Amino acid sequence: MTERPILEVSGLCVSYGRIEAVRGVDIHVGAGEFVGVIGSNGAGKTSTLRAISGVVKPAAGAVNFDSSDVTGQPSHRMVARGLAMVPEGRMVFSDQSVRDNLVLGAYTRIKTDPRGVDEDIEKTIAMFPRLGERIDQSAGTLSGGEQQMLAIARGLLSRPRLLVIDELSLGLAPKILDMLFPVLIDLNRKGLSILLVEQMASYALSVTHRTYVMENGRVLLEGKSSDLAHDERVLDAYLGRR
Ligand code: ATP
Repeated sequence: MTERPILEVSGLCVSYGRIEAVRGVDIHVGAGEFVGVIGSNGAGKTSTLRAISGVVKPAAGAVNFDSSDVTGQPSHRMVARGLAMVPEGRMVFSDQSVRDNLVLGAYTRIKTDPRGVDEDIEKTIAMFPRLGERIDQSAGTLSGGEQQMLAIARGLLSRPRLLVIDELSLGLAPKILDMLFPVLIDLNRKGLSILLVEQMASYALSVTHRTYVMENGRVLLEGKSSDLAHDERVLDAYLGRR
């Protein structure tokens, strides 16, 4: 990992009125790295991702993506630059078909590269065959797991270099997660950088290279995931050891 990180976040602060959700967070993701963020409810994980992906403007701090200062840039610009976000709760367009949802993910290039978009849709279907079987079905009729597959596939349609995922596991059965995580590992092995916020610490620590632990709007710990999985503080607070 000698290259400059694809994402560098420094001194990030996010406030909602008087609530300081994120208070001076430093995070980086190396090119080709798979990085996790864990922490309890309200720790500021989602707010951190929102500020990185341009959904909210940071109150302070800087976001550098692909060697450019992108602090405060709106999310559509971030997508065009190569950062795609898979939001918490999936946010698929329920009334639209699976195919239309995928095409919407490719809005940055649908006019200039329709053939490439079709090819990429075929690739995501190969990755998630269930989406292929339901390609003309409205997204609202999919199961939670299938909607999460669609949300990931939609993110990939913009051909990102960094995929930012908020709470992959939310409301999903272990069986589905055992299917989704290997897809992410495979995408990462093929070169995609991934930043994953995950409340199920055991999953996050087992798939990522490096993990940040957030509490009360700050980074409490940071290290190799394989080390943190054995860290006393992590075992006690996040891996349910009594
Ligand atoms: P969770 O896992 O529960 O989503 P989180 O670690 O992602 O938690 P955030 O969602 O970033 O944490 O929330 C951090 C703090 O900011 C919390 O105290 C939350 O109540 C507050 N917060 C988040 N979004 C808003 C908002 N839109 N308006 C006001 N307060 C907010």
